[in-house]
Amino acid sequence: MTITINAAFDSGNIVVDSIDGTAARLSIRKDRESDFFQWFHFRVACAVGDALELAITGLDASAYPDGWPGYAACASYDRDYWFRLDTSYDAKAGGGTLTIRHTAESPILYLAYFAPFSMERHHDLVASVAECEGVTYRSLGTSIEGQPIDCLEMGSGDTQVWLYARQHPGESMAEWWIEGALEKLTDPADPHARSLLKKCRFHIVPNMNPDGSCRGHLRTNFAGVNLNREWDNPTAERSPEVLCVLGAMDESGVDWAMDVHGDEAIPAVFLAGFEGIPSLKPEQLDQYKAFQTALAANTPDFQVALGYSESAPGKANLSMSTTQLAERFGAVSMTIEMPFKDNDDLPDPVAGWSPERSKLLAHACLATLDQML
Ligand code: ZN
Repeated sequence: MTITINAAFDSGNIVVDSIDGTAARLSIRKDRESDFFQWFHFRVACAVGDALELAITGLDASAYPDGWPGYAACASYDRDYWFRLDTSYDAKAGGGTLTIRHTAESPILYLAYFAPFSMERHHDLVASVAECEGVTYRSLGTSIEGQPIDCLEMGSGDTQVWLYARQHPGESMAEWWIEGALEKLTDPADPHARSLLKKCRFHIVPNMNPDGSCRGHLRTNFAGVNLNREWDNPTAERSPEVLCVLGAMDESGVDWAMDVHGDEAIPAVFLAGFEGIPSLKPEQLDQYKAFQTALAANTPDFQVALGYSESAPGKANLSMSTTQLAERFGAVSMTIEMPFKDNDDLPDPVAGWSPERSKLLAHACLATLDQML
């Protein structure tokens, strides 16, 4: 019997180049109107006991070739519990080939670059949080394809906190993080939430890029635009998703901001800041560094040794949200990066970095913010 492979569903992405019995050669479709590709999500229909061998080729040309060595593919039988599979990478074969091997335990197996966060789950989350007491829902605008840019607001304090995720749609751990943050903030028994809601007004955008999310993109919107390079000059044609969020930020002001992402290559959780902005204030930088130190003390899933190099004084790229918000508002603004691989300081060989750990990291970030304010 021959397996079949299909990706015609929400956030699906795979190209079937050939199938031979229980082995397949596959490749990843580029984001629309761009050369980025890395996200995959597909299902295999097979027989129980099949020794599956799935080879994804051409990955040397992917957005982050360094993401593949040491990476293990995510899989699920019920689309709820995701675990890692036996995976190897050969940079020399087939233009860079990721080979996934697994003996099927059920007739349908789903595979993905990371546990997907579907648009259906997004709508369930937004609707359920919007119902909670003290929460205000706002649609800030629409994406190029007309999907709402949803924003949930809560809290009675003066400190304006913006949390926003999935500018890069393939970084699905970012929306799992947001789900964790929203669960904590809407838990009436949670002491950090109760304290934060007195001090802050939260503005939370769970998904900045719904079009790219549906389409199974890694990094861009419908127009092939990387939204995190649009913050100095967003336009209605290229980046309405950024234009509407930045417009709402201009109305509220921004004191603290977290832009939530996943990193393909680095096996750790880390922060990136705004060191190179032209109008850097010492106390602004001190607060960022203090947050980083406190977060490292609060959770062993966060560290400060690995990360991106800081930009030189005055050399920050202001097209990125974190630097733009730090410059524009004097905000303590940061990008949090979670791994596609795992936190190598505290690895979990079964699940790797996971939805559950993304959600618990959000809890630690909010507890830390409460300590800081
Ligand atoms: Zn990203």
